[in-house]
Amino acid sequence: MTLLVHDVTLTYPDGESRLTALDAVRLEVPAGTLTAVVGPSGSGKSSLLAVAATLVTPDAGRVVVAGQETTGLTAAEKSALRRERIGIVFQQPNLLASLTAVEQLQVMAHLSGRPARGARGRAMELLDAVGLADKAGKRPHQLSGGQRQRINIARALMNDPAVLLVDEPTSALDHDRGAAVLDLLTTLTRTRATATVLVTHDPAHLNRVDRTATMTDGRLTEPVAAEPAAG
Ligand code: ADP
Ligand code: MG
Repeated sequence: MTLLVHDVTLTYPDGESRLTALDAVRLEVPAGTLTAVVGPSGSGKSSLLAVAATLVTPDAGRVVVAGQETTGLTAAEKSALRRERIGIVFQQPNLLASLTAVEQLQVMAHLSGRPARGARGRAMELLDAVGLADKAGKRPHQLSGGQRQRINIARALMNDPAVLLVDEPTSALDHDRGAAVLDLLTTLTRTRATATVLVTHDPAHLNRVDRTATMTDGRLTEPVAAEPAAG
């Protein structure tokens, strides 16, 4: 199992008491599959991604990433694990204003200490995979919101992550562009063999995902396999 979230409970301080954001949550995501997590705002979806990304340490339970038990790792070890094994896509593409599209991706290789040689080729290959090979020299302000989100996704894949965590990638996009980004995530999950978790509050265009789980008040229902799409 490429991503394993096992009986995770997470609380935040809340005045005199504590708020339970995740309540014994269990999630298993095999390589090459996409699990969507839906649920209302405030139900704990982003908290689940933060725990899976090892950005937040749960009160109880454990997270295993690509066979690596993360409980007990030092901050530096977690940071290295994130750089090398986990791709994270947040709602707003936080691209660097002064860099071109291909440079946004090359920075990732640089940060992980990989040789610069080869990085440009891989960056171009990923831009091609997200349909933006012809935009390699463009800066963020020269691109649409949908194109920026595609670059954000390509950047998260630059270090060949085993796990891809995506938080509400379509919330700033209109329906058609949102559907195109979801199609892209499904395709990339297959071709890159990532264990992908996609958080969304929008149940539209979920017909292509492998499984859907629902978060309600910090509790996650068992993921249910998608009905085969009609046609
Ligand atoms: P979602 O992504 O589904 O909207 P979140 O995981 O962001 O839900 O939040 C779950 C609950 O935890 C909410 O009640 C939210 O207010 C609370 N929460 C989230 N982050 C924090 C934090 N850093 N400190 C305190 N409470 C938080
Ligand atoms: Mg959220």
